[in-house]
Amino acid sequence: MEDYKFLFKVVLIGEAGVGKTCLVRRFCQGVYPIGQAATIGVDFMIKNMEIKGERIKLQIWDTAGQERFRTITQSYYRSANAIIIVYDISNQPSFDRLPEWLRELRQHINDRVTLILVGNKSDLTESREIPYHIGELFAQRHNMRFIETSAKESANVEQIFTELTETLLKQA
Ligand code: GDP
Ligand code: MG
Repeated sequence: MEDYKFLFKVVLIGEAGVGKTCLVRRFCQGVYPIGQAATIGVDFMIKNMEIKGERIKLQIWDTAGQERFRTITQSYYRSANAIIIVYDISNQPSFDRLPEWLRELRQHINDRVTLILVGNKSDLTESREIPYHIGELFAQRHNMRFIETSAKESANVEQIFTELTETLLKQA
């Protein structure tokens, strides 16, 4: 017998170096990889959640380096329930590439997929390049939720996945 009622597939995209793997490791394993970060080496990680008395299994897909080569394929997005688009608040190019990521996404997904925009590395206040409200505005314009996180300081990481799962539950 299955020990969960819902299975949701969540995928992370965004430029290399923005902290996707660290976010997944922080959420799934409770660690922040020190030094050499962080090729998971598997396609996905599993996290069991319980929200409002429902047991949910999240299957979380990390791109594991493919983003460098732009070889992310249809199969990666297939059957995604939610997509987390990550940029680095201290890195303008990672933000400037968002429209391109969205364009690519839209070729592969339908309108019902839940999108959430994440500005990671919120701990880097000194070297911030993208103000909070600019990220928020971009998300609003493209019909996405928005959240700033720090995988390093474990700020808002749980919230990404909790909010997202709550949204998916409402649609289920
Ligand atoms: P990915 O290529 O998107 O998977 O990015 P990684 O998770 O491998 O992280 C890239 C680099 O950013 C690593 O050196 C991490 O230590 C660093 N990093 C990731 N998350 C954070 C964060 O929240 N704050 C800070 N300051 N650095 C981070
Ligand atoms: Mg990675």
